[in-house]
Amino acid sequence: MITAIICAAGKGTRAGFSENKVLHELGGLPVLSWSLSAFSAAGADEIIVACSEADEARVKALLAPFPAARTMRGGSTRGESVYNALRCAQGDIVLVHDAARPFVSHKTIRACVESVKQYGSGVCAIPASDTVALAADGNIFSVPARETAFLVQTPQGFYRDKLLAAYEKARAEGLSFTDESGVYAQYVAPPRIVAGERENRKLTYAEDFLPAERVGFGVDTHAFGEGDHVILGGVRIPHGRGLLAHSDGDVVCHALMDALLSAAGLDDIGHHFPDTDERFRGADSMELLRKVVVMLSKAGYAAKNASISVIAEQPRLSPFIAQMKENLAGTLGVRKSAVGIAAGTNERLGYVGEGKGITVYATVLLMPVKA
Ligand code: MG
Repeated sequence: MITAIICAAGKGTRAGFSENKVLHELGGLPVLSWSLSAFSAAGADEIIVACSEADEARVKALLAPFPAARTMRGGSTRGESVYNALRCAQGDIVLVHDAARPFVSHKTIRACVESVKQYGSGVCAIPASDTVALAADGNIFSVPARETAFLVQTPQGFYRDKLLAAYEKARAEGLSFTDESGVYAQYVAPPRIVAGERENRKLTYAEDFLPAERVGFGVDTHAFGEGDHVILGGVRIPHGRGLLAHSDGDVVCHALMDALLSAAGLDDIGHHFPDTDERFRGADSMELLRKVVVMLSKAGYAAKNASISVIAEQPRLSPFIAQMKENLAGTLGVRKSAVGIAAGTNERLGYVGEGKGITVYATVLLMPVKA
């Protein structure tokens, strides 16, 4: 029988939220729920969530979908919480896990259990990619060889009786440890390392909770009318006709703006820059694009790349593509190579093929930034 002990009794104050970080939302669910799902799906027979009195009601409400889970009042330290949970756990194998690591995979959980069965313990750890130094009073006193340095994660799996006995010895000696790997190493045996995953990172600071990347799509069409040029991607291109529009008719900018706004979940350009508003008569669309970039930044996003497809029979765009890319990249604040523009015809089919107008499709990827 396998018991998962999930440590959620900390305050998580470094994240700076008004609530415990493990109750904070991540991708639509509280952080704690991700671990509950992972251990439940990986076959834990019993799940004990150590939580504070203040959080108990909210944590209990999250346990409803997991019949194997129950709460337990946490102690004043992590070690005390785990010790209390070990004493009332039913499983012969226990997996101790930090609720602040919501990205734990089923594969990792199962690997921990297998390691306990084979070696008596299984502690997730990843090789240190930076040099690790031991220091005191601002001075480094030892630099272990990189290949011997690991960053220890959770879950950490053990036979319950062995870990409980180790905790009892530590309590008798009045010693405290950072985590179970330390207690076990001191009183039982060197814990066996299970290859951890970089994705299984610990959420500590508010920026660790940044939302995921977002994709966006936009389309715009403008019809040809009177004129002697078109403006596409901020480039003035001489042509026998112009594009009909309230603004400068930069259909490339318009499709791109809608893709950006859509990706961020904001209203479309018709809402922000209505064609009934005199302020936008003949507007420079590159200037409007700049405004959209500011709106995105306030919403906590910046463009990572943009991919644009222009469908037009006329004019021939290839001589102008490089300048269009440079204009758009500059305004988006990305490298020129992050903007792709393909120009094609519609093989004389449909309204574009009849030379009546230009249609542009744009997709973008946004990355989260600090708002
Ligand atoms: Mg338009």
